[in-house]
Amino acid sequence: MISLGDARARVLRDCHRLTDVQVALADALGHVTAEEVVSPEQVPPFANTAMDGFAVVAADTAGATDSTPVTLPVVATIAAGSAGDVAVASGTAVRIMTGAPMPPGADAVVMVEQCRPSADGSSVEVLASVEPGNHVRPAGDDLEVGDPVVAAGVELTPGHLGVLAGIGRTEVRVVRRARVGAMSTGDELVEGDQPLRPGQIRDANRHSLIAMLREAGCEPVDLGIVADDEAAITTAIQDAVASCDAVVTSGGVSMGDFDYVKVVLDRLGESEWMQVAIRPAKPLTFGLVDGVPVFGLPGNPVSSMVSFELFARPALRRMMGHETSGRTILDAVADEDLPRRPDGKIHLLRCLAAFGDDGRLHVRSAGSQGSHQLSAMAVATALAMVPDGDGVVAGDTVPTILLGRSLG
Ligand code: AMP
Ligand code: MG
Repeated sequence: MISLGDARARVLRDCHRLTDVQVALADALGHVTAEEVVSPEQVPPFANTAMDGFAVVAADTAGATDSTPVTLPVVATIAAGSAGDVAVASGTAVRIMTGAPMPPGADAVVMVEQCRPSADGSSVEVLASVEPGNHVRPAGDDLEVGDPVVAAGVELTPGHLGVLAGIGRTEVRVVRRARVGAMSTGDELVEGDQPLRPGQIRDANRHSLIAMLREAGCEPVDLGIVADDEAAITTAIQDAVASCDAVVTSGGVSMGDFDYVKVVLDRLGESEWMQVAIRPAKPLTFGLVDGVPVFGLPGNPVSSMVSFELFARPALRRMMGHETSGRTILDAVADEDLPRRPDGKIHLLRCLAAFGDDGRLHVRSAGSQGSHQLSAMAVATALAMVPDGDGVVAGDTVPTILLGRSLG
């Protein structure tokens, strides 16, 4: 058996960053930047007011209080979006709205809550003394020309998109998404709601895998169900690698007489069949066919999902420029015994995780732990990595992978 870490390193070794592409901001969320962006302009582009109020010369407000107000004539009103070219002479005020440019001559804003305008709006009593710069946002207060905005290699967030739009960018250069084919293999598999004949089961894995691809930021390609037939699998994989950046398959990588995926991958390219020291998801075939990574994941439904999570997801994210799997691993407190037998493997238990009042992550089993029992995987929010031995006793801690779902 090969350790989880070694198997993952083996897979990552052959998965390289994809090419760059220019995308519209609207399509850029979650992509990794392939350029460093610096600001070509000041943000904000002009000094403006942070408050609704009155633009004044600060010195004119000296000594103003609620009981000794300073009265100033109001010479104009400027709204956000106006050019703001009315000058404020000493001894006058301009009524001003948040975001409007500071009028020439004014050096401070008194917020409306500290003013008492006259009924006809022609004058205002200022009830507080303010310093120059009060409630004024100077030009370039957020970004100066040449300031770094986003570094290369950064996963774009909604905030980044706002910042990029704020400097006039409509597009950004990113690492492109991986187009990844997903196929199920197995003579027993039936699609959708077709009636089952004896011995048949419905294809679950392709649907989970396509969804996991989407979650990982890939563009999934549905390659359907392929029979346990060496020629059919050969053709399907050859076709897939011709149009995909990577391929994930389920089934056919174990020790059975009809497990052709590993045979085909071995024949078509460089591949390695691994017995990984984990449970579930021990068998994994990984290979390059025409330079395209192919992940031969095991067929048991939980195994295929766990194998995707541990091997395909980090590899595909690496191809898309991410440096990590994007998963958080924390030491969690077991709220119940998590028993097991020693077998040289790490057991990945499907768990429900939640933060307790003690601020720590707590886990308990999400249900039946057989590798064919997808129900517990469906509700699991975490995988507890129970080390080899007799298991974890309630109250002990266990390293736990959070699966990126809302925690209960
Ligand atoms: P295999 O890895 O091909 O030996 O399959 C292991 C087990 O998983 C068998 O019980 C298969 O019937 C089952 N299985 C394989 N592929 C799927 C699938 N796509 N959906 C549901 N179960 C599957
Ligand atoms: Mg099979």
